[in-house]
This record gives sequence, structure tokens and C-alpha cells, in this order.
Amino acid sequence: MISTHTTTELLLAAVATAATAATLTHAAYSPESQLFGRTLIAGNNPNEAALTYDDGPNDAATPALLEVLARHNARATFFMIGRFALERPNLVREVHAAGHLIANHTMTHPWLTMLPAKQVHEELRTCNAALEDITGAPIRYVRFPHGARRPAVLRIARELNLTPVQWNAMGHDWQPIGPDAIEARLNNGLQRARRHNCGANILLHDGYDKHLGADRSATVAVTDQLLQRFTRESTCMVTVDAWG
Ligand SMILES: [Zn+2]
Repeated sequence: MISTHTTTELLLAAVATAATAATLTHAAYSPESQLFGRTLIAGNNPNEAALTYDDGPNDAATPALLEVLARHNARATFFMIGRFALERPNLVREVHAAGHLIANHTMTHPWLTMLPAKQVHEELRTCNAALEDITGAPIRYVRFPHGARRPAVLRIARELNLTPVQWNAMGHDWQPIGPDAIEARLNNGLQRARRHNCGANILLHDGYDKHLGADRSATVAVTDQLLQRFTRESTCMVTVDAWG
């Protein structure tokens, strides 16, 4: 028979295990956790904002986005998927020629927490090689798909001279919710960043990780709305390399 004492100990052990698992899950998937290693989020100037776009290039959205950004004279950061870059090299060159920062978002967009170290290395290395071949410029920043990482993923990124970048404002623009709802969701992060005296690292998507051609017209529209607002508020638009 199990004594009350033992039962209590077992219960405490179970609670401790659950708490540890919760902490590790948070460290692996929370955009802002630094437990598994340092990631870049934003600088300490609340008047700075970086627009960042994941999952492109995508000819259904990236050209329209470039047009909006050019109209506002704003530079953005594009975390590109290597396999789409190889299919649309001219679009990658167009983004680069317009002065935007191009960065690594892996070759095929897997969950890096689920892959053996060797495959993590290949995902990051081959994406870098594709982007560097196309643009002729070194790639220095990476955003892990879904922000998911573990200590080995961060180590491999460091070995490849890549700075991992997360975010602090998310628009949920992969959902069909329209530009106003995307902006409303971003506002939560923007207000929180301001309260913490941080710049805003804004996560949006010009592509879709499964295929080319996804409709991101709401993302393009919200970009226009945000840039009008940031001009009114005298927010300084930066690319993530301004922060480290
Ligand atoms: Zn992604």
C-alpha cells in the first residue's frame, strides 16, 4: 500500500515534472523566451519599428508589397524560404535591389525542434547558400519557422554566423480576418513593446510555407495602413540589423 507521505511525494514529483515540461515548452515555442539562448527581438527605442515578412518570396504578394514599401520610402526585412527563392530568383533580386534586408527562414520550413541536428544544419546552410548565390550578399539573420528552437538549433545558427530573430507583435495574417483585424491584433504587441520601452518587431507574411501563390492582399493593405500611421506618429522604420 502507498502511504500518504509517498503519495504526496509522487504528486509533488508529477507537479515538478509538469512544471519543467511547461517551462521547456515555453522556451522552445514562446517568441520572446531567452532560456535556450539569446535571440534578437528589438532595440530599446520605442519609436522604432521593423516590418518583417515571412514565408516569401511569393509573386502573388511580394511585388505589391514592394510597391507599398517604396511609396512610403520604408525598408523591411524578408525572411525567405529557400525553396521558393530558388523558384523565383528574380523576385529575390528585386527585393534586394530595393534595399530591403533578406534573411534565412530555412530551405523547406520544417519544425526545427523535431529534426536531428544534421538536418537542422542542412536546412539553414542550404537556405543561406541559395539566398547568397541569388543576391551576392551575405545572409546574417535567421527566423526559425514558428519561432521554434532548442539549444542545438541556436548553436547551429551561431556556427553558421546567423543571428536568430524572433518578434514581439504578431498580426495573425495567415487567418482570413482582413486588414483591420490584423492591425487590431498587432496593436496588442505594439502597445506592450511601448510599455516595455522596446522597438516593435512586427511579424507578417508575404507568402505561405506550403506553396507559392497565396493571397496576402490583407497583409499588403495592413502594411499601407501601418505605414500611414507610423508616418503620422513619427515612428522610425528600421530593418532588424539596426538592433544587433
Ligand atoms: Zn514561416
